[in-house]
Amino acid sequence: MMKCRFCKHSLEHVVVDLKNQPSANCLLSVEDLISLKQGKREPKGRLTTYICNNCSLVQLGNITAPEDLFTNDYVYYSSFSHEWVEHARVFVEKIICKFSLTSKSRVLEIGSNDGYLLQHFVFHNIPCQGIDPAGQAAKAAEKKGVNTIVGFFDKTTSQEIIQQFGACDLIVGNNVFAHVPKIREFINAIKLCLSEEGVISLEFPHLASLVEYTQFDTIYDEHYFYHSIIALTKIFSEFSLKIIEVTELPTHGGSLRIFLTHKANNKYPISRSVGHILNKELIMKLDRKEGFKEFQKKAALIRQNALNFIKEKKEKGHSIIGFGAAAKGNVFLNYCGINSDDIKFVVDDTPAKQGNFLPGSHIPIVEVGAIQDLKPNIIIILPWNFREEICQKLNFVKEWGGQLVTFIPEIKIS
Ligand SMILES: [Zn+2]
Repeated sequence: MMKCRFCKHSLEHVVVDLKNQPSANCLLSVEDLISLKQGKREPKGRLTTYICNNCSLVQLGNITAPEDLFTNDYVYYSSFSHEWVEHARVFVEKIICKFSLTSKSRVLEIGSNDGYLLQHFVFHNIPCQGIDPAGQAAKAAEKKGVNTIVGFFDKTTSQEIIQQFGACDLIVGNNVFAHVPKIREFINAIKLCLSEEGVISLEFPHLASLVEYTQFDTIYDEHYFYHSIIALTKIFSEFSLKIIEVTELPTHGGSLRIFLTHKANNKYPISRSVGHILNKELIMKLDRKEGFKEFQKKAALIRQNALNFIKEKKEKGHSIIGFGAAAKGNVFLNYCGINSDDIKFVVDDTPAKQGNFLPGSHIPIVEVGAIQDLKPNIIIILPWNFREEICQKLNFVKEWGGQLVTFIPEIKIS
């Protein structure tokens, strides 16, 4: 029996079972594809999500896929758009003001990437420190004047940060918290380097959005936890930390940003937003299995609608392609059983991805220019959370009557 990654109780209640899935960010090279054709088996594992009936933490079950059967180390670098950097700048301006940060303060970002966020603290002369496992991203950060430790954030690196940089007055973790499997160690390590009156800011996709909009494709093998305020209140309380504010954000189809402090820190009152989101979750019954009883059925319906749509278009002789080769799309395609017989290719802006193939479905990834050459009838937008942006960018397909389609939460054609 699988155990809860936080409280060690047995995991009994399945939220959703997304069948056998390959590692969602592990693209295949031409050589990989050849070795599969010669009989090598593609590593896959059952992607099942559970809710713990003791602590209410929603989490992945054991990932059974062997991790390093393929040798091409595909490293995922977020490529930040101008818009994203601007979003980070606005966040920094606000937070400096809100928590009265000065040149005497210390700011740490976990998963600091290429310094997209911390560079704005440099601009305001506020000492900052990044930590990120990706060496190349860290190099890019150093060029922006952002000191970056190359490594994972844990007890050892946390101690190193206290010794060399000092206790931190602001610790930022954007989209790392849900991706760290050892949740206890991670929280311990953050608490360790948080100053007495310091604040932690974490962002992660919200469980309520996952359930409300059946965003099953946000579940993938590197994304271990699907957080609610219900579960987090209990979890942080064990570490003598408290949530003082919650903000709903539109990113990733619905995320939360929470601010935390030591329990003993009474500098900031607890905002009403905490109770507001908590109540919303309780109404949705996200603290127990009843809150998830329709989820599997709804995912299956989305799957059926997508398959019917594709079948109908294929019968009419229409050409179908995909847009965006990211984790989300792979989970969707593999759960639906859509492959290169259905979708000719997927276009993606990232040069490092082009020339490779999607895991499981084996759909080739090509450059965006291929849309003009083929003039496809149907383009399936896989990262539906960027629908608006992508529709604008691909507006030119209207010239030949091309249609842009998303399937989640329901089929939408424009
Ligand atoms: Zn638990």
